Amino acid sequence: MTEGPVKVLVWFEGQHPADMYPQRIHGTIAAALNEREQITAWIAELLNPQQGIIEGVLADIDVLVWWGHRLHKQVSDETVRRVVGRVEEGMGFIPIHSAHHSKPFKALMGTGCDLGSWREEAEPEHLTTLLPDHPIAQGIAAQWDVPHTEMYSEPFDVPQPEEVIFHSCWDRGEEFRSGCTWTRGTGRIFYLRPGHESYEIFTRPLVQQVIVNGVLWCARRT
Ligand code: ZN
Repeated sequence: MTEGPVKVLVWFEGQHPADMYPQRIHGTIAAALNEREQITAWIAELLNPQQGIIEGVLADIDVLVWWGHRLHKQVSDETVRRVVGRVEEGMGFIPIHSAHHSKPFKALMGTGCDLGSWREEAEPEHLTTLLPDHPIAQGIAAQWDVPHTEMYSEPFDVPQPEEVIFHSCWDRGEEFRSGCTWTRGTGRIFYLRPGHESYEIFTRPLVQQVIVNGVLWCARRT
């Protein structure tokens, strides 16, 4: 078993005009992770040298959390190569929400990762925990809501997940596989759907707990 804290890099593409987080999205997620004794989190972003994905740094990271939305196309092939290579060597990877269309996630999946549809109307999302015994579901209720979300609907164009931990539905009937896992090489991948730059989702304790659980699972510390 590896000693010491789990080392996490939280990557963010840059400032969003509608970003409601004073610490910005990566700072908010990193702060929540750093409240846990067993995790040490840092932040990086697109405008940093080497797009924030420096080979020597990445080599020392256990888990990379990725947030992107509008600037996916600016992520270079070299950055994607570094991320994919490290995942295959065992680094965990957690793309959140709109990172479904990020280049590293698409490269790891080998599919377009498109959604059926989406709608930004601050609607409640109703989540069901499908695998309550999974480490990522530890401390998470069987049924839980996020009050204001952007809706994503199936079909989600990804390979069959190894596990679907959370399922979402909206009052108008749409559904989504909201917490999915895959393995690439020896690296674990956890896609988490909830999260949006103009709603308060990342300050919610249950969402933070799922991200913490995901980090520990991806780092094989559960
Ligand atoms: Zn969104």
